[in-house]
Amino acid sequence: MKVWLNGQLVDAEEAKVSVFDHGVLYGDGVFEGVRIYGGRIFQAKAHVDRLFASAARIRLEIPYTKQQIIEAMEAACEANDVTDGYIRPVVTRGTGTLGLDPFKCKEPVVFVIADDITLYPREMYENGLAVIIARTIRTPARAADPAVKSLNYLNNIYGKIEAIDAGVMEAIMLNERGEVAEATGDNIFIVEDGNVITPPAEAGILLGITRAVVKRLCEKNGVEFIERSFMPKELYDAEECFLTGTAAEVIPVTRVDETTIGDGTPGPVTRKLLGAFHEFIRSGEEL
Ligand code: PMP
Repeated sequence: MKVWLNGQLVDAEEAKVSVFDHGVLYGDGVFEGVRIYGGRIFQAKAHVDRLFASAARIRLEIPYTKQQIIEAMEAACEANDVTDGYIRPVVTRGTGTLGLDPFKCKEPVVFVIADDITLYPREMYENGLAVIIARTIRTPARAADPAVKSLNYLNNIYGKIEAIDAGVMEAIMLNERGEVAEATGDNIFIVEDGNVITPPAEAGILLGITRAVVKRLCEKNGVEFIERSFMPKELYDAEECFLTGTAAEVIPVTRVDETTIGDGTPGPVTRKLLGAFHEFIRSGEEL
């Protein structure tokens, strides 16, 4: 495998960052998760825009243009014959001293990995996923804004550990007000009266690009798309529930804690959107 590292394609074994890199020492950096389908990077612009927005929010200047990052992603895919897979661009703060000061770091390190990813077994897309509601809350925006896709994923990892300990694969995280925020690596949606409801930015979430695609698909398919906060009770009582993310795509949720959602099988709105999602991928349409 080849990894794109600071402008060069290097063997995976040679793709190394320093132990003094603040990305390693403090999780100081940003990243993206991107898909490539049929040799075409899915929503490349939206991902690169979000990468640069995340970097700007942590006062990290990426030493490449957006176009160069897109080209780096293409180069990483090409070098590994990845036409259908997953791309991970990462920007770390770079090498610095043993102190927090990010401005003592000389030069950000940029690398891009292109590989496969399978988050959930195929049968879960057909039968639905079981999740729990985590006791760990999502980091409040005033602590570390979840809208920034930073290398600090420990909050999400706490949620993931709770899920695994409970014998399921994903956990839903609430915000400090007790409202449903998002899953550890995915956005959440419920269906009520045939309408799709998802927590707004103010709930303290990462504004997913797949979430934006689902919004577009709802508009195209005459499904009302509502952004508003809701409490766990509304999730338990929902007709349908599903998660979205670049790696997960669109996945139905049929159990939350001990509660069966709907009749325990993926509902009609979820199935319609799942079909529309795959059609949208094939269309090559940009948001
Ligand atoms: N929330 C979190 C916390 C995430 O890490 C992700 C990305 N895996 C998402 C939501 C979904 O975002 P996207 O659709 O852009 O992948």
